[in-house]
Amino acid sequence: MTELTLFEKIVAREIPADIVFEDELCIAFRDIAPQAPLHVLLCPKVPLKMLSETVDGDGELLGHLFLTAPRVARLLGYNDGFRVVVNNGADAGQTVFHLHLHILAGRTFAWPPG
Ligand code: AMP
Repeated sequence: MTELTLFEKIVAREIPADIVFEDELCIAFRDIAPQAPLHVLLCPKVPLKMLSETVDGDGELLGHLFLTAPRVARLLGYNDGFRVVVNNGADAGQTVFHLHLHILAGRTFAWPPG
C-alpha cells in the first residue's frame, strides 16, 4: 500500500491543519511557515503529484482549483492583490509532492520572484 501524502493526511484529519475552506474536490489550509500575512495552500483531495504530470482528464479539477483560489482569497478578505504560485518539481522549490496552489496576500510582492 502506498503511503498517504502529507496533504492527504490533512484531508483525512490524520494530522492537524488550520482548514479555511473545503468542498468535495479540494481543501485549503494555512501554510505552516507563512511567507505573507495570508498564505494558504489549496490542494485537490486526490493526490496529483505535480502540475507537469496532469493529463487532459484533470482539466475539470484544475479549472475548479483556479476558480476556487480567488474565492478562498475573497473569503479571507482579499478581493484582489493576491498571488497564486505553483512550484513544479524540486528545482522550482516543490517540497510536497501533492499538487497545491499557494495563495499569498497581505504584502507587496516583488517581480521577478526569487
Ligand atoms: P512547496 O514547497 O511548493 O511544495 O510547498 C509546500 C508547502 O507546504 C510549504 O510552504 C510548507 O511550509 C507547507 N507545509 C509543510 N508541511 C505543512 C503542514 N503540516 N501544514 C501546513 N503546511 C505545511
